[in-house]
Amino acid sequence: MKFNTKTIHGGQHNIDPAYNSVMPPIYQTTTYKQSTPGGHNGFEYSRSGNPTRDALEKSIASIESGHYGLAFGSGLAAIDAVLKLLKPGDEVISTNDLYGGSYRLFTRIFQDFGVKFHFIGMENADHIENFVNENTKLVWVETPTNPMMNIIDIEAVANITNKHNILLAVDNTFATAYLQRPLELGADIVMHSATKYLGGHSDVVMGSLVVNDKDLSERLYFIQNASGAVPGPQDCFLVLRGIKTLHVRMQRHCENGKAVAYALKIHPNVSKVYWPGFEDHPNHGIAKRQMSDFGGMVSFTTKAGTLVSAVKLVEKLKVFTLAESLGGVESLAGHPASMTHASIPKKDREKIGVVDSLIRLSVGIEDVEDLLADLDQALA
Ligand SMILES: *Cc1c(COP(=O)(O)O)cnc(C)c1O
Repeated sequence: MKFNTKTIHGGQHNIDPAYNSVMPPIYQTTTYKQSTPGGHNGFEYSRSGNPTRDALEKSIASIESGHYGLAFGSGLAAIDAVLKLLKPGDEVISTNDLYGGSYRLFTRIFQDFGVKFHFIGMENADHIENFVNENTKLVWVETPTNPMMNIIDIEAVANITNKHNILLAVDNTFATAYLQRPLELGADIVMHSATKYLGGHSDVVMGSLVVNDKDLSERLYFIQNASGAVPGPQDCFLVLRGIKTLHVRMQRHCENGKAVAYALKIHPNVSKVYWPGFEDHPNHGIAKRQMSDFGGMVSFTTKAGTLVSAVKLVEKLKVFTLAESLGGVESLAGHPASMTHASIPKKDREKIGVVDSLIRLSVGIEDVEDLLADLDQALA
């Protein structure tokens, strides 16, 4: 099956043996009647498993070219489950330009349990080898990164992690399986905040993991059930419905993202645009190789360069909504320095490029003329 067919049909066999409904029913139940103790049809308690969740987990596994999918109550709950594979003394190597919530989970929770983290630049994958030792158990990669749109070569990182027998996990939230499939490039675990493009309509918070290895899937399933951060059936239904249009939405996100990136690039009041589709992007070649297109996330700085000018700009936007999050059908604008990255000290965030005038756009699927006109009036 090819990708667009998988988004609609992947893993969706025999989803309703009772009535052959085309969409899986929302099994809003906690428990399942047993004919004799232990005699059930595969489901006994909805933390351990639920048919609607099962349909979604199979769909996500299918689009990511993996064998096993697991859904969680949020993206961070999915990351939390991966980190629970580790023990005190284990070490993790992670990208330095990391989603703020992942950074907080690593440094404020797992560090206290004795896990050691190295946050490094991975634009040159060989750099990772300098931090590998016998305690290294996990490499955590995000690409493109948030909000600077750096690109990391997943295949090159996988070559290193495979050589040293280290797990490689890739947060694929920004690109989605439509643009890049980390398992095909050698990663062991692919993670999603399904809250973003997979759900796609800004109405569900959810996370997921996909793996190929049976033993790894069993260890993660054990954690999913034992820790219990599972999504409800209604939310699973909504994300499953979202995935069915992922390919058409992503196609338009990419088209609109490209138009916005090029318009900003030549705008007299913009100083720099961050988007991996530009030929002068430092890792454009890798992006071109490992992604099928460049996505709908675009960051830029204003020429004025001040906090006040950036805040004024985002306040003036009318079609773009000033809000956290990304990946929905509607266009959103964010000001990382005062929103997503506010908890990082100014000096540290400026080191990775998150300056006061940086604005991050999640370009939606509206008519692009309206988006360009909106940016134009706000930049004026
Ligand atoms: C939003 C996000 C997360 C966290 O997901 P939640 O669903 O909000 O818990 C993790 N990684 C990236 C890249 C994200 O954008």
